[in-house]
Amino acid sequence: MLYEKEREIVLNACRRMVNDKLTVGSWGNISLRTDDNNIVITPSGTNYMKSTVDDMVITGISGNILEGKLKPSSERLMHYEIYKNRKDVNAIVHTHSIYSSVLSVIDENIPAITEDIAMLLGNNIRVSEYAITGSIELAKNVVSGLGNNNATVMKNHGAVSVGSDMERSITASEVLEKSAKIYIYSRMIGKVNIIPDNDINKLRAISEDYLNQWKNWK
Ligand SMILES: [Zn+2]
Repeated sequence: MLYEKEREIVLNACRRMVNDKLTVGSWGNISLRTDDNNIVITPSGTNYMKSTVDDMVITGISGNILEGKLKPSSERLMHYEIYKNRKDVNAIVHTHSIYSSVLSVIDENIPAITEDIAMLLGNNIRVSEYAITGSIELAKNVVSGLGNNNATVMKNHGAVSVGSDMERSITASEVLEKSAKIYIYSRMIGKVNIIPDNDINKLRAISEDYLNQWKNWK
């Protein structure tokens, strides 16, 4: 079996996504770029809590199937398009998380209201334009919504987070959902204050050291 370790990383991230209630059913999908630029991606329409490493699908970056008995995720074009445009990204998590979806429905960006957004996600997390699921238009919209950030909210759909490894990407999903929740609650009871641009740049600069340390604690 090709990429056994990488298949396990993807499957564990799927289970974490379901346990964290970042998606329901088989919606949401996850992929990992291997060292030799192939993709391990979740299958289409599968219960992740019952899946095994054998169910993961191995493809090339243009979608050619290298190994797998199931069909790769129907939203795979979005994964390939992100990998082609972001050389720093090796893991992608797409969720249908509730609070991020609320902001996606009202088309509201998430500004840098807390330090973890600035450190892990970037500055001003944008809503990417709507296009129907699985289309190349949606894939391109998500790439442009991401820009250089590590997350975007997909209009009337859900959320995408990216990272240089799976730990960072799935944590970015958790931080995004937490941030969306904080932003919605803050807007309900008062004025929202945003971290100044100058401090966001400083936070970005120290984030790599911090994240490396934090990763070692895992
Ligand atoms: Zn979706």
